[in-house]
Amino acid sequence: MWLTRGQDQILTQIIASLSVNRLAHAYLFSGPSGVGKMCLAMDLAKAVNCPSEISEPCGTCDQCVRIASGNHSDVRVLGVVDGDNDSRSRTVIGIDDVKDVLHKTNLKPFEGKCTVIVFDGAENLSIEASNALLKTLEEPSQQVLIILLTNSETNILNTIRSRCRSYIFNILPKELIRKMLIEEHSCDSDDAELIARLSRGSIGWAIRAATNPNVLKQRDADLNHLEETMKASLVEKFDYVSELASEFGRNRNGVKDVLYLWRMWCRDLIILNMSNEEHILNSDKIAMLKDQSKNIDVNDIASFVGVVDRTIYALDHNVNPRLALENMILNMPEAK
Ligand SMILES: [Zn+2]
Repeated sequence: MWLTRGQDQILTQIIASLSVNRLAHAYLFSGPSGVGKMCLAMDLAKAVNCPSEISEPCGTCDQCVRIASGNHSDVRVLGVVDGDNDSRSRTVIGIDDVKDVLHKTNLKPFEGKCTVIVFDGAENLSIEASNALLKTLEEPSQQVLIILLTNSETNILNTIRSRCRSYIFNILPKELIRKMLIEEHSCDSDDAELIARLSRGSIGWAIRAATNPNVLKQRDADLNHLEETMKASLVEKFDYVSELASEFGRNRNGVKDVLYLWRMWCRDLIILNMSNEEHILNSDKIAMLKDQSKNIDVNDIASFVGVVDRTIYALDHNVNPRLALENMILNMPEAK
C-alpha cells in the first residue's frame, strides 16, 4: 500500500520502474515542504525491502513496520538538526555525518534487502559532504538506494543532479487536502475547509494543523504579532526581527511558516481591496482583515508581498538570516 497522495504522475513512473526492476540508484525529489517527498522516500524504502511479491510495500510485514517507525537499521535519514546550539551543525549537513552514513553503503544490508539513505534538506550538504556523496553516486551498488530531498533542485550541485533521477513535486490541490482531512483525520467540514485554504498545498502542514490544536493557536499568535508589528516603532520592529532570527537557528520551518503566513495575510488584504471575499484564504478572520485594510495602502502591501517572497528565497539559499529579515522589516508597510 502506497501512502503517498496527490503525486500520481511521479508514483506511476516509480511503480513502472519497480515492476520491471529498473529503479535508479539515486533519486532527487524537489518541491516545497509538506507535499509528500519524505512520504514517497519512505514508501520506496519499504518497497525495496518488503518481501511481498506485489511490487509495492505491503505496509504490514516486519520490514515495512520497522521502516515506518524509524527503527530499520538499513534505512537512514540524515538532515539538519533543529534545536542544536552549534550554528554550523544546525544549518549544514557536514562531512563527518555524511561519511558515517555512506560507510553503510560499503556493507551488506543488515536486516533488509537494500540500504536506503535519505538526505532530508540536501541543499544543506556542505561542499565536502557533497563531494563525498558524489563519489558514492559514481560507483552505484545494486543494494544501495540514495534519495535526496530538497526544496529546489537548483540548490543541488549539477554533478550530483546529473547522477540522480529527478522528480519535481507540486503542491497539492486544496480539494484533495480538504477531502483527506475529512476522510482520514476525522476533521469536520468547516475546519477541513479552513485548514485546506491555509495549507498552501502542503498536506504535511494540513495534517499537523488538523491533529495538533497548537498549530492554529500559533497562527493566531503570529497574526496578532503581525498586526502589532505593523503599528510598532522601528526599534520594536527590529526587536521582533531579532527574535525571529534567533528562532531561525532553532526552527527554520517555523520561521518560514511565519513569513508564509504574512504573505498569505497580505494577499488577502489585496483580494479584499478588490471586493472578492470568497477567495479570502484566512476566511475565519474577515473582520480583522477588513479592519486592517482601512488603515493600510494596498500598493504598499503589494510591494511587501514581493519583499517577503525574496526573503523566503534568501533564507532557502543560506544567506545571513538576520540581514534578510532586517531588510524585510524595513519594507513593512505601516498601518496608519
Ligand atoms: Zn511489507
